[in-house]
Amino acid sequence: MERVLVSPGKAKKQFIKEIERESGTEVSLCYQCGKCAAGCPAAFAMDYTPRQVIRLLQLEMVDEAVKAESIWICATCDTCTTRCPRGVDIASLMDALRREALKRGEVTDHKVATFNKAFLKLVERFGRVHEVGLMMEFNLKTGQLFKDVELGLPMFTRGKVHLLPGTIKGREQVKQIFKRVEQMGGGPS
Ligand code: SF4
Ligand code: SF4
Repeated sequence: MERVLVSPGKAKKQFIKEIERESGTEVSLCYQCGKCAAGCPAAFAMDYTPRQVIRLLQLEMVDEAVKAESIWICATCDTCTTRCPRGVDIASLMDALRREALKRGEVTDHKVATFNKAFLKLVERFGRVHEVGLMMEFNLKTGQLFKDVELGLPMFTRGKVHLLPGTIKGREQVKQIFKRVEQMGGGPS
């Protein structure tokens, strides 16, 4: 059977079209304002911010996008998608990239697993994520304790982040969910 030869450039374009089709969004719409990255609760732990992930796709750097730790650190919270003034569904793009990474066998590493564990522990305990706690736990476990000090101090003094965690109403129900998952053999531990 005759093989269909596709140039690397064409293959990358096809890949991006496929990712756009799967996520129902277009990377060319993004004008790099950074609102997505500014609101992302997990950006501090990412190797590429959500804005940069979109930029990689715009530049057809598909291998870099698929291998990015960011796609595994993304918690699918939809904050970026909600904030985007151009209607780019970044959360769905991250999801499509994760599926592609799984197909290629590019899966998580130690840093990503550490982040996921810290994230889930906080949700189990307080019913929601506490950004400062998450940052501290993640930076401690990955040996970069002072990484976000420059960013964290001004945010704290302006009241953008809180030292103590807040709680939610259905906290006990959230704990029950974690318990059920553990009984079924899952969980963050
Ligand atoms: S908020 Fe939207 S337009 Fe702005 S950088 Fe992010 S994806 Fe691009
Ligand atoms: S969906 Fe992912 S990339 Fe977007 S704000 Fe949430 S964690 Fe960040």
